[in-house]
Amino acid sequence: MIVTIDGPAGSGKSTAARGLAKRLDFYFLDTGAMYRAVAWACTNNGVDPQDAEAAARVARELTISFQDDRVMADGTDVTEAIRTANVSQIASVVAMIPDVREELVQQQRRVAQGLKIVTEGRDQGTVVFPDADCKFFVTAAAEKRAERRHLELLEKHEDVPLEEILEQIKARDARDETREVSPLVAAQDASRIDTSSLATEDVLDVLENAVRKKMAQQQGVN
Ligand code: C5P
Repeated sequence: MIVTIDGPAGSGKSTAARGLAKRLDFYFLDTGAMYRAVAWACTNNGVDPQDAEAAARVARELTISFQDDRVMADGTDVTEAIRTANVSQIASVVAMIPDVREELVQQQRRVAQGLKIVTEGRDQGTVVFPDADCKFFVTAAAEKRAERRHLELLEKHEDVPLEEILEQIKARDARDETREVSPLVAAQDASRIDTSSLATEDVLDVLENAVRKKMAQQQGVN
C-alpha cells in the first residue's frame, strides 16, 4: 500500500506524512531529506550544485539511509545539518538536475518495494508512484507557510525576519514549480487539502479516514 503526500515547502505535509505513518503504522519516507542530503554532500565536498555532472555523481555515490528519525549520509548523522536555510536553497537547485532526480527516484522506488508506506515530497504521486493507492496534495497560503517556518526557527532561537522567510519560500516554490523535470504539481487523482486554517490533528483525521476507507475498499474487493 502506497500513500503519497506532495505539496510546497512549509505546507505542513511533513508533519502530516509523519503523523499519518505513525497512526497507520506504515513506513515513512521523507524524499526531501534525500535532496537535502545530496545538497549537503555537494557543499561538504566543494561541488558546485549547478554542475549537473558533478552533482549527479555525488547523488550516485552518496549512501543515504534513515535510522528511526535520523537521516544518515555516508554514515554521518545529517539530521540537523540538512535543515539550514542554505541547504534548503541548494536542495532545490540540485533537484532541478535530471540525473540527480533519476538516481533518487530509483532509490525511492527500491525503498518502497513491498512496504506499506507514506512517502512525502513534490513528485511522489505524479512521477515516482503514479499507481499509488492514495494520493494527497497538501497546500497552504505562502504567508501562512512563512509564519509557520518563522515560529519553527524562533523555537530554535533563530530570529530570521518574516519577510526574508517569505521571499525564500517564494523563490523555492518558483524553482520547484517551473523546473522542466517533475515540476511541483498535483496529480490529477490527488485529494487536495488546504491546511491554512486547519490544526495538525484535523489534517491527520482527514488523511487517516481517507486511507482507512481505501484499505476497507481494497479488502472488500480481495
Ligand atoms: O520537502 P523539502 O523542503 O525537505 O525538500 C527540499 C527540496 O527538495 C525542495 O525544495 C525540492 O526542490 C526538492 N524536492 C524535490 N522532489 C521531492 C522532494 C524534494 O524536488 N520529491
